Amino acid sequence: MTFHDLNLNTPLLNALEDLKFQTPTPIQEQAFSSIMSGKDVVGIAQTGTGKTFAYMLPILRMLKYSEQKNPRVLVMVPTRELAVQVAEEIEKLTKYINTRVVAIYGGVNINTQHQDLLQGQDIVVATPGRLYDLVLRRALQLKSIQKLVIDEVDVMLDLGFRFQIINILELLPDNRQSIMFSATMTEAVEELIDENFKTPEKISVAISGTPLENIEQRGYLIPNFHTKVNFLRKLLKDKETFSRVLIFVAYKRLADRLFEMLAEEFSEECTVIHSNKSQNYRLRSIRQFSDGFCRILVATDVMARGLDIESVSHVINFDTPEYPENYMHRIGRTGRAEKQGISIVLSTEKETENLEKIENLMDMKVPQFDLPEDVEVSTVLIPEEQPKIVEINNPGNRKNEDAPGPAFHDKSEKNQKVNLGGSYRREIAKKYSKPKTKGDKHANRRRKK
Ligand code: ADP
Ligand code: MG
Repeated sequence: MTFHDLNLNTPLLNALEDLKFQTPTPIQEQAFSSIMSGKDVVGIAQTGTGKTFAYMLPILRMLKYSEQKNPRVLVMVPTRELAVQVAEEIEKLTKYINTRVVAIYGGVNINTQHQDLLQGQDIVVATPGRLYDLVLRRALQLKSIQKLVIDEVDVMLDLGFRFQIINILELLPDNRQSIMFSATMTEAVEELIDENFKTPEKISVAISGTPLENIEQRGYLIPNFHTKVNFLRKLLKDKETFSRVLIFVAYKRLADRLFEMLAEEFSEECTVIHSNKSQNYRLRSIRQFSDGFCRILVATDVMARGLDIESVSHVINFDTPEYPENYMHRIGRTGRAEKQGISIVLSTEKETENLEKIENLMDMKVPQFDLPEDVEVSTVLIPEEQPKIVEINNPGNRKNEDAPGPAFHDKSEKNQKVNLGGSYRREIAKKYSKPKTKGDKHANRRRKK
């Protein structure tokens, strides 16, 4: 099977040839005819298996040249970095096609994006929040959308984008084609599909939770934070082996702390990314890491979701994620496009419970290794590791604001994943009713504040 066996056209085949891609990945092969048939499609495939092209190839095959101002294709993604990346991937595929593509995301000047949209676009790749703001400003109209793609949909829901997604879905024409892609399937996702998709065709290349074979997994039992840092320092000294290392940490605060500690020794080679950093800082960190300027990137889960960075040699799970899906997505940043990758997970005694959950999901054990003898075992505990003194009626007792959720951020109450049955939809409809009159387009917004 080569790309020539798919019903592609010459401009697309030439673009693929320039990229030196010859054979479609399994998900690309399977998704092609389903999407071409015009049906709604839900695709599940492991990380790094080419899902972006799996939906873009058939969409571009069907997209005809047009000079109309309002976009016909909308791709929604959970993070700003992913919006930039997916738009770049589309640019590569449309090298020989006259297609207008724009990335729309928050944290940067809205007026520039407003202008870009007024120029007229064919494909909009967007994060939901900024997109909705621009719709309210009437920078674009969504009733012209023929194809909707929601990429990394589960993380989108975890991030609390549910209401923004529903608001946007309401503005799309009913006769659109909806396509959804993810590496993991959750209950909340199924609910969204039930409510918004028309008897979708489900394509699943591997059941949710199957790790890639080309990722070698290793585990270490390590007593505490400082010992983990000592071990990491030892590993990272081997620059040849650890040539591009992505380190995951659950909490922003710990990410900063770990980054500072590593920077003492590896200064220039090391950078960090999480949601409290400015957008320019975030994009720069990613660029420095993927250009090879920085060898080490410390990241929180959400930031690295879906990102495709070439040749990551190692993914290090500095902590053992509580939600096994997060582990799947973390390790999926290596071993991409059939390259080999190594994943290392560091667990404290307490975290072995999480490791068990991960092993259950994958239906395999992570081989465990002994901590090398020359790694100093520290007895110093960080504040988070010290035993907690429980006080009653302590007015200073604050909620743990930095606690990780499924995608490591707080979930608001209204966004908890609970199945509220059929009445749930009516509740939502009551709360977010359609504007009563044409002139009352901001009704939803006002009510939400
Ligand atoms: P996913 O969304 O499934 O995690 P991506 O769409 O980001 O994966 O693709 C992962 C990498 O594989 C990208 O660098 C992409 O350019 C590359 N790729 C995609 N399709 C092919 C193919 N058919 N052959 C070789 N490489 C591919
Ligand atoms: Mg992807």
